[in-house]
Amino acid sequence: MNRLLHNVGALAALSITLSVIWTPWIAVVTLCVLCVWLTRQVTQRDEAAQQLLREPTAVPRPFAEVMATVRSTLKESAQHLKDRDAEIAQRKQITNAVPDGLFLLDAGGRIVWCNQAALVMHSLDAFRDMGKPIAQLVRAPEFAAYLEDDSLPEPVITLGGRTLLFHLERSDGNGNSGARLLLTRDVTEREKLDRMRRDFVANVSHELRTPLTVVGGFVETLTDLPLEEPERTRYLHLIATQTGNMQRLVEDLLTLARMENDQLPPETSLTDVSQIARDVLADAEALSSGAHTFVASIEPAQVLGSAFELRSALGNLLSNAVRYTPAGGRITLTVKGGETVIVEVNDSGAGIAAEHIPRLTERFYRIDRSRSRETGGTGLGLAIVKHVAQRHRAKFEIESIVQGSSNEPHGSTFRLRIPGVP
Ligand code: ADP
Repeated sequence: MNRLLHNVGALAALSITLSVIWTPWIAVVTLCVLCVWLTRQVTQRDEAAQQLLREPTAVPRPFAEVMATVRSTLKESAQHLKDRDAEIAQRKQITNAVPDGLFLLDAGGRIVWCNQAALVMHSLDAFRDMGKPIAQLVRAPEFAAYLEDDSLPEPVITLGGRTLLFHLERSDGNGNSGARLLLTRDVTEREKLDRMRRDFVANVSHELRTPLTVVGGFVETLTDLPLEEPERTRYLHLIATQTGNMQRLVEDLLTLARMENDQLPPETSLTDVSQIARDVLADAEALSSGAHTFVASIEPAQVLGSAFELRSALGNLLSNAVRYTPAGGRITLTVKGGETVIVEVNDSGAGIAAEHIPRLTERFYRIDRSRSRETGGTGLGLAIVKHVAQRHRAKFEIESIVQGSSNEPHGSTFRLRIPGVP
């Protein structure tokens, strides 16, 4: 640039000198020639500079090497930043996909960071609650104690209707900073299943203990006392009844267990529901021993499914109708064929109050425990029917009208709607 200014200055001086020495027009021509030459010089230099930027090799050697190093360092650090961003985004995605709540706590137990699940699980606000002590948000003495001493057993606390398990982990390698990672896991379903399993074991034990005590007592009496023949026969009959109850309970338990463990759908063989209905009706009539009036309307009906399971379901419905309908009552069995096979068992019993109906298919749920036991019930019949229905993609419906003071019709209806084979 300096050289250019220098040249322009020299040009001006020369033109003044020439205009003095020669005639002015010669000075003008000389000046024009010099201007053209100068413009070409500048353009050429500009092009050379552009070329230099495009092709670094055009730059003198040591300078080109420095530029190449700078360029590759810049490229590397840009890529590094990009990778870091991608890594951070990925980690954020992973921590947010974790179903457990994760908190990073500082040495004072204040929240430094938490994932999405933690916000939802504890109904926190990402801005309002950051930096707050976790003990202020999880208010439970067991948790406060665990926060103080993480060698204590992990607390399981019910908060807002959910059961949560808490676990603390030191988050730094040497443990100097005191930062800790707190994991909270929703164990509501696990706890529910555990409770159900415990209740089930307790129920089965209880169901078996009663008949076993009776049998044990009679065996002892028969062994120790010289009894008259009629009394001996009566006691032996009672032992046989209790043994029968235990056998039925074990059979029902095995049926339920088999259906629960069998992941496969029931056999897909063509099953004649009308034949099953006629068979179980004959069993029910035998059980009733003439105490009830039976009305049957059985159309030809076929479904794809397990004959064993369907027999068990229908058998339970009919035996319940006999056992819970007072003598003199009426029991109706209806089977309708078609695209949907309908099997309906209706009785004229005392009926079931509405609040019991949703719970009837729970294992061991009984309205009248002693009546169920007296009549040899296991408390598992309707649970079996529910399972059979589920495995056959059938609907199981229960309707009932409780007996009132008037002479209105009353009783219960148990209905299965099974996809049929027309
Ligand atoms: P259980 O072996 O006690 O009969 P279920 O599971 O078959 O067990 O039935 C559960 C409960 O439902 C019975 O204890 C009884 O209280 C009630 N129940 C079932 N069927 C009838 C019915 N037809 N009429 C009135 N109550 C019934």
